[in-house]
Amino acid sequence: GCGICVNKCPFDAIMIIGLPEALKEPTHRYGTNGFALFGLPVPRIGKVTGILGPNGIGKSTSVQILSGALVPNFGQGKGDWDTVLEHYSGTALHDYFKAVVDGKVKVSQKPQYVDLIPKAFKGKTSELLEKTDERGVMDELVEYLDLRGIVNRKISELSGGELQRVAIAACAAKDAQFYFFDEISPYLDIYQRINVARLVQELSKDRAVLVVEHDLAVLDMLTDVIHIAYGEPAGFGVMTLPKSVRVGINQYLKGYLPEENIRIRPEAIKFEVHPPRDDAQFKSAASFNSFSMKYGDGFSLKATGGNLRVGEVLGIVGPNGIGKSTFVKVLAGEIKPDEGDPGIEVKISYKPQYIKADTTVSVQDFLRGISKRFGSSYYEVEISNPLQLERIYDSLLTDLSGGELQRVAIAACLSQEADLYILDEPSAHLDVEQRSMVTRVINRFAENNQKTVMVVDHDIYMIDLLSQRLLVFEGKPSVYGEAHGPFSMESGMNRFLKNLGITFRRDEETKRPRVNNLDSRLDREQKESGNYYYSA
Ligand code: ADP
Ligand code: ADP
Ligand code: MG
Repeated sequence: GCGICVNKCPFDAIMIIGLPEALKEPTHRYGTNGFALFGLPVPRIGKVTGILGPNGIGKSTSVQILSGALVPNFGQGKGDWDTVLEHYSGTALHDYFKAVVDGKVKVSQKPQYVDLIPKAFKGKTSELLEKTDERGVMDELVEYLDLRGIVNRKISELSGGELQRVAIAACAAKDAQFYFFDEISPYLDIYQRINVARLVQELSKDRAVLVVEHDLAVLDMLTDVIHIAYGEPAGFGVMTLPKSVRVGINQYLKGYLPEENIRIRPEAIKFEVHPPRDDAQFKSAASFNSFSMKYGDGFSLKATGGNLRVGEVLGIVGPNGIGKSTFVKVLAGEIKPDEGDPGIEVKISYKPQYIKADTTVSVQDFLRGISKRFGSSYYEVEISNPLQLERIYDSLLTDLSGGELQRVAIAACLSQEADLYILDEPSAHLDVEQRSMVTRVINRFAENNQKTVMVVDHDIYMIDLLSQRLLVFEGKPSVYGEAHGPFSMESGMNRFLKNLGITFRRDEETKRPRVNNLDSRLDREQKESGNYYYSA
């Protein structure tokens, strides 16, 4: 170890090539042996600055410092602003902190966990929005974020996606100099994510905006520069100096930061441009027949039949409220269709979108009860280590956070004996590093065990890294939906993105997909040729 960390130091395990300069003195440490933060993100007027990194690594601590609520102590005792100003003299942070000390920086924050808002605010949506509308822009925001239909509803009656958009509107409507959005994408579909990203960009024109975001396609299109955050969650965290968003995300994916000379992950995350495969070489795992389903006189779903292949991951994409969850519930036998029958004759293991913990059993006992392999080295290497389960083995299911419960539910789903595994929105509540681990776990699971996996998700990077083929849902959200496919990745993504009016290119270096700017040369060319998902 380097002697800096009090907790277990990850550098023993993952090879450190040189000790970053920033690690010599923390920006802030809680108490004598508490969490230590090294470095700080730098807010800039006219720019969207991003933070890319796992949870528990000091993002909120940074924002508390930047908002003036916490005076950094540089490692010990109680901080004072004179020392802070002197410490940063000659840097951009000096002028920023000077303005903070002079009371010239008002901060507006969008909290990470929007599901907590109904606990803090009891009234109607319109009351909350009126209260925060310091800039007199709420009408436009309500229109833009499609909130017209819910302004008269109580905050306690809103869905996650509605709460998220209300929280974003409330944050953006305030009159501040520094805006902080702690994630914009949870509960939103890809169309809404991109819409909100454009709003935040617009907001940054004459203000400083800082964003934490775990959906890499969104972070990439939204921000100008990013700070990569790494370290040991709850032990210490390091914020790198700012990097251009393209370079920063590429470094993050490769797992190595050259300027800092540090490896943050043993292996790179690799994107492949899927080659067209010969259909004949696939073994069929199962097929499902066409069916339709209607909720009373509400939403209706139509699905045409299709086949599933041994060892494949089938991605499922489409907007919110289009019937994706209804479709997988019918396949899993949780609900009965009104017409037709999917007639899947294989055993299915299913992780629902909304997970409830209703028994006070420990994580360990729960998982042991599901799989005979629990405790084996297979289980350790393929499931419990990558999903970071050991540290929560003794916690009760009912005490878990959203992200912890998600990882346990994914493990539970993959631990069942079955032929077809269905995961509805596995990325929800997970940070960027956990998403990449889950992606790896699912890919290896399907390949090593020759099982079929279906994954519903809005995270384009996850869908791209996981899927061999795609089901695409189309229709009118909350009115009707149709399931189309399975398609090859390329034709499925082209179809999906055409509906959204968004094109992607491939990064030359890492082959990751990148959203094209609307009406840019590439955007227009790709739309004309029908290559919405550029794959060469
Ligand atoms: P992030 O926003 O990246 O999830 P935080 O900045 O909230 O991370 O927290 C980083 C670490 O600092 C956590 O381990 C947390 O327990 C610890 N921490 C946060 N606030 C305090 C505090 N007031 N006193 C002591 N430790 C704290
Ligand atoms: P998705 O997973 O694509 O977001 P869902 O299948 O969850 O879509 O929902 C599709 C539509 O059906 C939504 O408008 C939703 O409100 C409605 N819906 C879902 N479940 C029920 C139900 N049990 N009763 C009535 N309507 C429902
Ligand atoms: Mg759903």
